[in-house]
Amino acid sequence: MKFLIISYSQNLETSNSFYIQLLLSYDDTVITYDLEGLLMFDVVVIGAGPTGASAALFTAKAGKKTLVIDNDKSVTKRAWIENHYGVLEISGPDLIENGKKQASKFGAEMVKATVANVSKTDNGFKVETDQSEYEAKHVIIATGMMADLAEKIGLTTKPGTEPRIKTIIDVDAAGKTNIEGIWAAGTIAGVSMHTIITAGDGAKVAINVISEMNGERYVDHDILKA
Ligand SMILES: Cc1cc2nc3c(=O)[nH]c(=O)nc-3n(C[C@H](O)[C@H](O)[C@H](O)COP(=O)(O)OP(=O)(O)OC[C@H]3O[C@@H](n4cnc5c(N)ncnc54)[C@H](O)[C@@H]3O)c2cc1C
Repeated sequence: MKFLIISYSQNLETSNSFYIQLLLSYDDTVITYDLEGLLMFDVVVIGAGPTGASAALFTAKAGKKTLVIDNDKSVTKRAWIENHYGVLEISGPDLIENGKKQASKFGAEMVKATVANVSKTDNGFKVETDQSEYEAKHVIIATGMMADLAEKIGLTTKPGTEPRIKTIIDVDAAGKTNIEGIWAAGTIAGVSMHTIITAGDGAKVAINVISEMNGERYVDHDILKA
């Protein structure tokens, strides 16, 4: 008996699906098997503003298979920023682009789409967008001032306490929501609406997700080359 993998393909743009064709032959009999499925991400981050991109930078740099889904409506695009520690001055659009580049540099995949639903599956979560669907072990919600998705998927929310923030997701100190495996960070998690703080909160929650996946506290330090 012999078997052969005829073809393997993966399509990220449409549905992140994989397709395998197997051929089984014994004596004069030949059977082909077609296998299709969704590839599992370790972490899907919803939102690519300072919070989401910062979280994805840490999870991707930690070797976690990371996908960022964003529909390009960040309020940060209207900002001119002179109070982000370590950056003399930068426009909001440039800060966002830099953040996406940093996360992509370490392998985070980016998809421009609107997430419409997140539902529990046996292996984790199904994340549905207006174009396709993906699977994830952990989901980080970083949707800024937009709480509609959180309310739709059954996350516990409460009134915001920061100026102009109507609704936030109720999280614990680690960034965990009422649904195990779904985390929230940044403006939508109620932190002060400043890029250094929202980016910092995205990083904090990412480190908590990585640490939970690794079963020990995670640290990401690079050393200056001599
Ligand atoms: C006019 C203005 C000036 C500002 N100036 C400063 C300043 O000088 N200094 C400072 O520190 N901060 C400033 N800020 C605040 C700063 O922009 C925010 O604090 C902050 O960084 C928000 O980050 P965030 O990632 O939480 O949200 P956002 O940057 O809003 O990112 C959220 C992302 O989630 C995406 N998203 C939401 N729902 C979905 C969905 N269902 N599917 C897919 N994607 C989704 C959105 O498209 C967006 O890209 C300013 C803000 C404004 C509006």
